[in-house]
Amino acid sequence: MNLVALLPVLLIGVAMPLAAGDGQVPVVGKPRQAAVRQIVIHATGGPDCDASRRFRGGTLAGIVQHFLRNQGRISIHYVIGRDGSIVSMVPESQVAYHVRGHNQDSIGIELVNDGDGMDPFDATQIDRLIALLRELLERYGLDVTAIKSHAELDDSTIDCNGIEMKRKQDPGQAFPWQRVLNALS
Ligand SMILES: [Zn+2]
Repeated sequence: MNLVALLPVLLIGVAMPLAAGDGQVPVVGKPRQAAVRQIVIHATGGPDCDASRRFRGGTLAGIVQHFLRNQGRISIHYVIGRDGSIVSMVPESQVAYHVRGHNQDSIGIELVNDGDGMDPFDATQIDRLIALLRELLERYGLDVTAIKSHAELDDSTIDCNGIEMKRKQDPGQAFPWQRVLNALS
């Protein structure tokens, strides 16, 4: 079943043009205690001690269901699929749990991508991200320095049988920072 396709097309708080695959899968967060000062870019794939789960980006519908199943532990404001479809989950006025130590003042955006530095980000996906970022920066009165990678905000590591690796590396080396920052500057 394609959960995303069954939901009404309505994005919380977003005034940008909608696309065919956009939708809303509501998850309730806690009210914010701080103003939005950061927008954190994620990729859905990342390091894992289990090689079968390492750097697997998944699908938009699969990721949305993953967030629904685990909503007491992890959550996100927006997920953008490879085709550029945007699914809104936690309302911007509420806290989502997507980055250790920075949840109160941030908005989180997940991009469906393996996050391994090799999987290319689709141009359509990046176009929609830029449009969303433009809208958010304007609405919260922020400039491009507010846009952060998950990797730069979380320095923790995981130990996989004695081998230490950085726990959060997303969105990874394949993410086109220059293109995004140029478009928004
Ligand atoms: Zn992340």
